[in-house]
Amino acid sequence: EETVSKNFIEQEIDKDLAEGVYTEVCTRFPPEPNGYLHIGHAKSILLNSGLAKEYGGTFHLRFDDTNPMKEDMEFVESIKEDVQWLGADYKDHLYFASNYFDTMYECAVKLIKKGKAYVCDLSADEIREYRGTLTEPGKNSPYRDRSVEENLDLFERMKNGEFEDGTKVLRAKIDMASPNINMRDPVIYRVAHMTHHNTGDKWCIYPMYDFAHPIEDAVEHITHSICTLEFEDHRPLYDWVVKECEFDPAPRQIEFSKLYLTNVVTGKRYIKKLVQDGIVDGWDDPRLVSIAALRRRGFTPESLKMFIELCGVSKSQSSVDYAMLEYCIREDLKLKRPRMMAVLDPIKLVIDNYPEGEVEYLEADNNLENPELGKRQIPFCKELYIERDDFMIEPPKKYFRLFPGNEVRLMNAYFVTCTSYETDEDGNVTVVHATYDPETKCGTGFTGRKVKGTIHWVAAPYAKQAEIRLYENLVDEEKGVYNKEDGSLNLNPHSLEIRKNCYVEDSFAEAKGCDSFQFVRNGYFCIDSKDSTPENLVFNRIVSLKSSFKL
Ligand code: ATP
Ligand code: MG
Ligand code: MG
Repeated sequence: EETVSKNFIEQEIDKDLAEGVYTEVCTRFPPEPNGYLHIGHAKSILLNSGLAKEYGGTFHLRFDDTNPMKEDMEFVESIKEDVQWLGADYKDHLYFASNYFDTMYECAVKLIKKGKAYVCDLSADEIREYRGTLTEPGKNSPYRDRSVEENLDLFERMKNGEFEDGTKVLRAKIDMASPNINMRDPVIYRVAHMTHHNTGDKWCIYPMYDFAHPIEDAVEHITHSICTLEFEDHRPLYDWVVKECEFDPAPRQIEFSKLYLTNVVTGKRYIKKLVQDGIVDGWDDPRLVSIAALRRRGFTPESLKMFIELCGVSKSQSSVDYAMLEYCIREDLKLKRPRMMAVLDPIKLVIDNYPEGEVEYLEADNNLENPELGKRQIPFCKELYIERDDFMIEPPKKYFRLFPGNEVRLMNAYFVTCTSYETDEDGNVTVVHATYDPETKCGTGFTGRKVKGTIHWVAAPYAKQAEIRLYENLVDEEKGVYNKEDGSLNLNPHSLEIRKNCYVEDSFAEAKGCDSFQFVRNGYFCIDSKDSTPENLVFNRIVSLKSSFKL
């Protein structure tokens, strides 16, 4: 068995368990319900739930809904769906941070009583001014030395709605000269006369993230609070809140670097604009990397897990090539999915020596590399469809497909020799004619002669017409994702190509949204969960078959 070296977070957890800091492991994924989750969140979800599983611990899904301004409950359901789909099992450990508002208020009162927090009347601009800079220490607020009694009274009146938004805040009393600006008496509560989706009008003061988050973790007995690197500078404040509020055992924050992908749009702000401007078809447009979009595109939870594992966990910032994600879905589907024939750009092939009106059923392996997927019967008859570019009137060198006089193998069927073709008045080929050799039937072991080309086909009267959507990156790789001058996106005008006149084998009667298949020579495709119906099949190309990507 292969021994995989542990990542730095696992090493820290091992150490904590060995030293008895904790006896079990509890992790969480704490999204703000203010948008759809994307591939970066998948990393956090799989990392946290994976650690809980590995250590026989518990994984929590907690909605960080302490900011009434930004949240929209529309997103709660989509986030739950995405987390479940990824296979992260939170069982009955679903929490809402807004349910801890009472505890947070009590913690604030405790800090005031300990002389560790005060009500400050400076405006937001003044607070910023007093805070100082990286090179200059801050100045104490003139309200810093208010008595405990006065602070308790003012804070209660803040809670009771006696003050306008922005006129008073509660601040932690730490150190205005700290080299870490986050420690210079940070604001921990503000007045905001807003209705909260969960607590209604009960509160008109709301806790700030840096105060709320450690309390949420501590209340839930989270042991390892794993977050991204931008919170590293906030860790001293996290630890301060836990300590001064006297939580025991204390949760421990550990930071890792965010996942970035090349050539894709991940910023929520940019995705929102693409949706609003109608450039993409909603948050689940298959060209996006929201989890909903990846699912609709045909990515599987297993492929995302493989991808996240390959990315690894570290503290160094780097971007991962999108081609690696494509590699993972190919690897996942390669043996799992049937290999069918579908013609994306059809032209008719007439087998002139095949009896009119006759049909025979030929046996084909569903997946040559995986016999467990069984076999199927494919109709064969006089009129077929083949790919337009599998025929040429005047072939270049090394073109082994159909041209007048040349013989090729029809996959799973017979050898056919091209005899002639028809054109319209503009010279476009409309029909290709051929004859077949009955002796060359697939499966009979015919060895009489060899051909160099094999092409796929479908039987014209039996095939189903389908719409197929081919995708490229949403952004122009050459120019880079963002325009250097104005920060706008460099969009690729060819990111979506719709082919309405494709033909697929008629064996999708049972298929439903997100089911995927290999279409031989053309790639992996899935049924579009939004637009496909049994009468009007719509497929998304997940990924083509070939890639220059190497592990
Ligand atoms: P975005 O800036 O894309 O909106 P966010 O950090 O604001 O993301 P949250 O809802 O706050 O979104 O994130 C929930 C969790 O997901 C946090 O713990 C956050 O650190 C983590 N997370 C967000 N983006 C990434 C990423 N690119 N890679 C890894 N983890 C991420
Ligand atoms: Mg956030
Ligand atoms: Mg956010």
